[in-house]
Amino acid sequence: MTESGFTISYLGTGSGGSTLRNHTAMVVECPDGTRILLDAASGNTVLRHAELLDMSPVDFDHCLLSHSHPDHCEGLPHIEMQRSSRNPAEQPMRIYGSGEAMLDMATLLSYPRRGLTVDQDGVRRRDDRRVFTFHPTLPGEWAQLTPTIRAKCAPVEHIGGAVAWRLETGGTSLETGGASIVFSGDTRWCPSLAELADGATLLIHEAICTEDNRRRADETAHSTAAEAGRIAQLAGVRQLTLTHIDDAFHHDSEPLAAEARTVYDGPVSVAHDLWQQRI
Ligand SMILES: [Zn+2]
Ligand SMILES: [Zn+2]
Repeated sequence: MTESGFTISYLGTGSGGSTLRNHTAMVVECPDGTRILLDAASGNTVLRHAELLDMSPVDFDHCLLSHSHPDHCEGLPHIEMQRSSRNPAEQPMRIYGSGEAMLDMATLLSYPRRGLTVDQDGVRRRDDRRVFTFHPTLPGEWAQLTPTIRAKCAPVEHIGGAVAWRLETGGTSLETGGASIVFSGDTRWCPSLAELADGATLLIHEAICTEDNRRRADETAHSTAAEAGRIAQLAGVRQLTLTHIDDAFHHDSEPLAAEARTVYDGPVSVAHDLWQQRI
């Protein structure tokens, strides 16, 4: 398979209730060296696991947020502290999400910390430098992250303001040097996601369980592995990675991959913490 030059580092791959894995966050390293954080996990996951992979949140200039559940964003205050202490002169990290998610981030980041001001535009230190800037993004609207990398989101069915993201560079086909990565965030079966993921190089989709336990997926607004596979098949993506893994599949995730393969013809992987996937 031709490679696009993207590397995805999975810093956390556990579901919200996981006790065996860290919560969800990934770093996408683009061919031009730009590093983009997809979700921010909870606690110090991003700090610790980035460090183990020789990276630092100080180098992440962009963060695309899927939604405001704490297992996806509660790491941001810790990232703020590290960026402020390690490199206070650094450019702000630009955080993209739905308008609703950006309001929630302003609340999350309003924790008591001397010399920090939080408003709807982001987080500012006493010397007026910004640590984070907030960029509410409308569905379908392209955010130009760098001259060659852009991202857009689409609503998904989980909680208010939840979105999936499509990140692309240099067009959409590997033949023209382009590639695209789509991340589902958390969502129940959401057929419109197939439109966002159309022809993507990689679809990263959550999978909370298999069909035999689909009541759990229904009750928590998550997807089964078969549903993730169906989106991959409908969208015609080149490969599928499953993430947001429950404890029940931590030691043996093969049943998830096997179920996705029953409906999707392409390669299926299941992510694990600290895995680096090159596409
Ligand atoms: Zn979650
Ligand atoms: Zn969630």
